[in-house]
Amino acid sequence: MSATRTTPEHYLFTEEHELLRASVAAWARERVQPHIAEWEAAREFPREIFEELGGLGYLGAQYPEEYGGQGSDLAANIVLIEELSRIGAESVSMAIGVHTAMATPPILKFGTPQQRQHYLPDLLAGRKIAALGISEPDAGSDVSAIRTRATRADGGWVLNGSKTFITNGSRADVVLVVARTSPENAGKPSFSLFLVDTAQPGFVRGRTLEKLGRHAVDTAELTFENIELPEDALLGEEGKGFGQIMWELDAERIVAAAAAVALGFYAFDLAVEYIRNRHQFGRSIADFQAIRHELATRVAMLTAARELVHSTARRFQLGEERMPEIAMAKLVAANALTEMADYALQVHGGYGYMAEYPIGRVWIDARLRRISAGTDEIQREIIARHLIGKTAR
Ligand SMILES: Cc1cc2nc3c(=O)[nH]c(=O)nc-3n(C[C@H](O)[C@H](O)[C@H](O)COP(=O)(O)OP(=O)(O)OC[C@H]3O[C@@H](n4cnc5c(N)ncnc54)[C@H](O)[C@@H]3O)c2cc1C
Repeated sequence: MSATRTTPEHYLFTEEHELLRASVAAWARERVQPHIAEWEAAREFPREIFEELGGLGYLGAQYPEEYGGQGSDLAANIVLIEELSRIGAESVSMAIGVHTAMATPPILKFGTPQQRQHYLPDLLAGRKIAALGISEPDAGSDVSAIRTRATRADGGWVLNGSKTFITNGSRADVVLVVARTSPENAGKPSFSLFLVDTAQPGFVRGRTLEKLGRHAVDTAELTFENIELPEDALLGEEGKGFGQIMWELDAERIVAAAAAVALGFYAFDLAVEYIRNRHQFGRSIADFQAIRHELATRVAMLTAARELVHSTARRFQLGEERMPEIAMAKLVAANALTEMADYALQVHGGYGYMAEYPIGRVWIDARLRRISAGTDEIQREIIARHLIGKTAR
């Protein structure tokens, strides 16, 4: 039995979700898994994958039917991302995750009916690709240090600044940008969200960054040079961008945590398959208690992480926000994954260090999860703030 099926998950997933899971898994195994190595080498996966996923209704799983969605929920989106990570397709999982679970949900939540109608049908069909622009060269963990600025001009806005590390940045059609807006509110910076079409004059794509892994998904630097935005490029209320992006980060962390757990179970599968077939000292290395117990500990941690991720996702789906369990889920999932990936490589011995074995790629891809969507340290800080409070200075 597969390790992802050993625990009932009814609290988040219904029978419908499990049917969806079976379809997504079958599709991913046929259409993505055989091409992972080839796409990583090509530094790109075909854009048509977005359209194919859109055509199957998977991109629109959690969106209302009136915009071309399937009317399901976050759990359905989690199923999609989990099944991509479950086969080690991290580049595709990340690109699709950013598109459908990070950059697009704020349009539904904070957009006007016109903005939704303008953007969602193309995004859910995969005809257009979305990216999310928060990080800047000098604003990573500290989102409040963002310098990109939008100023009012002639009934619209002028946008200036730059973003870095933007997933899908090289081929996105629309970028959801967090920018400073005036006026400052009681000395505190005011932030707002903007929908920026990448075809606009002044939108400059910089380098596609060369990463350690996840080569098939593009990560880019973007510059905005006096981009003239219409009034309705503003998403939601002016000055409310910080709170809006915190809501987005809640969902982003839940989905990232789910993907981390799924990749961890893939690493576990690779380890089990390998140790069963590798013989030393006259027997299978799966018979050595030292190895069995190390793997058992790690799969237990991964299973615990999965339970926390799914129960937290359910609470978020029911309307709870900003609870410390989101940071906990992200933290423990990322660490359970990296522990598993590292040991799974270890049991491969020297073969684990050979590029022809998939475990090496998993090991490298896993490492990002402790950094992106907020680092381990930031998750610990959020947890501490909730449960320990702020210290008096
Ligand atoms: C492959 C990839 C894809 C990404 N995709 C996107 C994307 O699509 N959109 C986007 O906006 N961003 C994206 N990011 C950016 C990502 O969110 C940031 O890299 C991350 O939040 C960390 O910011 P930083 O890299 O600037 O590190 P820094 O914030 O400079 O942190 C450096 C170190 O200091 C630690 N640190 C910082 N503050 C504290 C503190 N208060 N207490 C203790 N330790 C602290 C950090 O934990 C870290 O270990 C991506 C990053 C990568 C690598």
